[in-house]
Amino acid sequence: MDPWPSPSLPNLPGSGPAVRVTDTTSRAPVTPVNGPTARMYVCGITPYDATHLGHAATYVAFDLLNRAWRDAGHDVRYVQNVTDVDDPLLERARATGVDWRDLAAEQTALFTEDMTALGVIPPAAYVSAVESIPLVVDAVQELLARDVAYHVDSGTDSGRDVPGDVYFSVHSDPSFGSISRLDEQEMLAVFARRGGDPDRPGKRHPLDCLLWRRERPGEPSWDGGPLGRGRPGWHIECTVIALEHLGPTLDVLGGGSDLVFPHHEMSVAEAGQLTGKQPCAGATVHSGMVAYDGAKMSKSLGNLVLVSRLRAEGVDPMAVRLAILAHRYRDDWEWTPQGLAAATARLARWRAALSRDGGPAADAVLAGVRAALADDLDAPRALAVVDAWADAQLAVGGTDPAAPGLVARTADALLGVRL
Ligand code: ZN
Repeated sequence: MDPWPSPSLPNLPGSGPAVRVTDTTSRAPVTPVNGPTARMYVCGITPYDATHLGHAATYVAFDLLNRAWRDAGHDVRYVQNVTDVDDPLLERARATGVDWRDLAAEQTALFTEDMTALGVIPPAAYVSAVESIPLVVDAVQELLARDVAYHVDSGTDSGRDVPGDVYFSVHSDPSFGSISRLDEQEMLAVFARRGGDPDRPGKRHPLDCLLWRRERPGEPSWDGGPLGRGRPGWHIECTVIALEHLGPTLDVLGGGSDLVFPHHEMSVAEAGQLTGKQPCAGATVHSGMVAYDGAKMSKSLGNLVLVSRLRAEGVDPMAVRLAILAHRYRDDWEWTPQGLAAATARLARWRAALSRDGGPAADAVLAGVRAALADDLDAPRALAVVDAWADAQLAVGGTDPAAPGLVARTADALLGVRL
């Protein structure tokens, strides 16, 4: 698929330090990239409720990492998927009487418009589940051949064998559970809530996850070769896209914290069985959840704040971005009208400060923003550094003719805030 257009990134003098992030798996700060190339996979949307503030916060968080890596001199290889066929999408399409393909296309287009408006650097490879079906079919056959996958509900039709759905034996991976560190009872509960089917008869273990779902009446299906017609399970899609576009090891596997289990746990387990390399990700990095009206933003609760709706109301997307950056990426936080008002005021203050000729020297602004981002993407601290310069500029002013330009380029290149 075509990703959205890339924003132009201004040049900055020098380069930033190595970037530390918090690794969910080890619960510790790590510096995931040491070589020249940074490989990052961030799970994309299922296009049926795009783009709420929770999505926006996730992609802005990993955009900061992308920008900090580029500033540190890395060649960033960034890959993202679109889950353009899955149960929630098909259910929504059925409930609203819309063709699932039209729903996916419409919501994906809205998402790419929102990402463009928010100044998010696009992935180099933006890959849909449907595009990846041949890769999924190959991978599922490989897992079957290794006896870490198996059929459920196979049968016969006119004397011929008909293969059933295919499941992955999650416990074939000895490190399964090491990312989430949930005990089995917790895993079962979360699995049931997030798309899993622990009670399905015929599985070897209740936590085993679907790899290939055989064709059902009224559902879309694709040629699966020996697997029969069907469609991919959720986790294997990300596994094969990451392996295809980034190779057997990633530097960062990212997404919202609701993906830790089961999605990332299962994707990583599948990748480990396919490549023999464990773990496949140097660091797993997760952004916090965004609440609204006291509850996690979700379609089922109906408390979504959509970026597209804010844009239609005339809210500057840069104010939305600043409202997100006022929170540390891994914290849970709540979207409020007050938070947006504060971000709008901050944007106006920065622009007023930059509209003057000359200003206080700004080398420390660049150094301060770089240091804050390198320290586990501390965006609130980075904003405070720019605030301090803007306050000094508005209160006292200065004579360095290059200062406003340097502050503007710093905010643009590193924070993604166009002033
Ligand atoms: Zn994923």
